[in-house]
Amino acid sequence: MKKIGVLALQGDVREHIFAIENCGATASEVKRPSDLEKLDGLIIPGGESTTIAKLLRIFDLFEPLQKALRNGLPVYGSCAGMILLANKIIDGTADQETLEVIDITVKRNAFGRQVDSFEQELLIPEIDDKPFNAIFIRAPWIEEIGADVKSLADLTTVGGKVHSVLARSETALVSSFHPELSGDLRVHRYFIDKICCIN
Ligand code: GLN
Repeated sequence: MKKIGVLALQGDVREHIFAIENCGATASEVKRPSDLEKLDGLIIPGGESTTIAKLLRIFDLFEPLQKALRNGLPVYGSCAGMILLANKIIDGTADQETLEVIDITVKRNAFGRQVDSFEQELLIPEIDDKPFNAIFIRAPWIEEIGADVKSLADLTTVGGKVHSVLARSETALVSSFHPELSGDLRVHRYFIDKICCIN
């Protein structure tokens, strides 16, 4: 059975643990460097990216986590998790750090404030042909995408511009939205089955 860790410093940790267990994998909380051992994959939940980045420093987890991810530990970051994994952030705070594990530029709070949160049906052809009810909460979008990163779902935003809101590299999956809140396990299953395959 695959063992998937959830970074448990802040954010919607329990919802991801529930989704992982419903996919038939084992979930464990990651709060210290030793919790990173023997994982098949890691999820960085939504929450507040500036807070999670500060807590990673306070808990001496920033460097061990960055090292594990750069050494190929599969990772899925949703919303704040996507911001934390991006190489670059637009509209971050002046001192905001990221783990720099996926070659994307992410625009923080791109869809507006908390009140501008919304749900939207998305097509994710790489998964199947049934729409996915995606929940966006003070969400980022992908502004620029690197050559080794593939968009798996796009959204046309106000003004007609198309932005990727779900993308992957070989070992990292990122989403602007929160599949752990919609009760639909397909994104988690995709991560566990298609990206957490190193063992
Ligand atoms: N806007 C938040 C941030 O910058 C992310 C919101 C979320 O994870 N739902 O971290």
